[in-house]
Amino acid sequence: MLRIGLTGGMGAGKSTVARILAERGAVLIDSDVIAREVVAPGTEGLAALVAAFGDDILAEDGSLDRPALAARAFADDESRATLNSITHPLVGKRTGELISAAAPDAILVQDIPLLVENGLAPLMNLVLVVDVEAETRIRRLVEFRGVSEIDARARISAQATDEQRRAVADVLLDNNGAPGAIDAVVHRLWDERLVPFEQNKRTGSPAKGELRLVPADPDWAAQAQRIIARLWVACGAAAQRIDHIGSTAVPGLDAKDVIDIQITVADMAAADGLLTALAEAGFPRKDDVTDDNPKPTEGDPAGADHALWTKRLHGSADPGRPANVHIRAEGTPGQRFALEFRDWLRSDAAARAEYLEVKREAEAKAAGLSGAAAADAYYGVKEPWFDAAYERLR
Ligand code: ADP
Repeated sequence: MLRIGLTGGMGAGKSTVARILAERGAVLIDSDVIAREVVAPGTEGLAALVAAFGDDILAEDGSLDRPALAARAFADDESRATLNSITHPLVGKRTGELISAAAPDAILVQDIPLLVENGLAPLMNLVLVVDVEAETRIRRLVEFRGVSEIDARARISAQATDEQRRAVADVLLDNNGAPGAIDAVVHRLWDERLVPFEQNKRTGSPAKGELRLVPADPDWAAQAQRIIARLWVACGAAAQRIDHIGSTAVPGLDAKDVIDIQITVADMAAADGLLTALAEAGFPRKDDVTDDNPKPTEGDPAGADHALWTKRLHGSADPGRPANVHIRAEGTPGQRFALEFRDWLRSDAAARAEYLEVKREAEAKAAGLSGAAAADAYYGVKEPWFDAAYERLR
């Protein structure tokens, strides 16, 4: 099951995007609908609201009089907290029931206007943000949804800013254009990313990155932070620290378009304990890799002790954002080297230039080959330089 969060400012066009995804086969969970459902007549939610705010919040027919409730609940912070303490758990419970009821191969799309405000992004396998300039949103709300301009402005300014929403967006869907212009983009997203992501996740298959250098992307740091936020949710207290490592963590350095992350744990038992949680988060294990190339250390001058260099490797199932997640034990040479190597490259322009040369040579050696042969050629050039770099860093 793949869990997609869909958000955007009020009037951005979330419903439009949700409708297309549902037509393609997504299971839609609409948090606005659930929020109304849990306080419908006859529910424990409505009874709790009446107990807290009085009969005056009911309309003649016994249903919730929303403006009356708003007048009471938004009067002060305490009332607002009371309202949230009643509705949030009920919405959470109902959402959980709908998620549990979905098929194992479902692509769930949760339409959540306040995804950013409620810090829900790291719980999702992927976050889609529908992006439209605020002034355009206000115009559309007034024109098509009959909201007054004053009301639209007040509600939009009470929400997260566009910048805050963009920060959690794995996919930014630009809906500033004409009606319908976004449709093809959503269809392509479904075919090329969501469907293969779900399949990869379900079958435990990390997406493959290409052995090709691309120009340094200033957005890599933010992409890594989004991955790290998800990994923290999956790992909880089992992780001692989670870091963006490797070339994509070095600003300005061209690299393979694969984000490397290191999770530091107490030992390999702790790493193995994360197997299921990481797979659920969209990072299945790569079983073929169980250690780094051993290098000489003070306790092991011949560099023969594989146990010192043991690790677990997971990979993102998202074909739109390949990532490797290395799990290493605190204080092992491999764990420390990953951090020191990154910091060295960040601080030393000559080292960056030298490493880039080596990577270019490795890429050239792998050009025209495929599969294991390409990887052997690539790493055949890179690993010896890496081993020497380890000596220099010591
Ligand atoms: P949300 O669900 O994000 O609050 P809606 O999907 O209801 O937003 O969109 C707000 C209004 O703008 C709707 O009336 C919708 O039909 C309209 N709309 C959506 N996309 C466009 C677009 N590209 N151009 C003009 N109007 C649009």
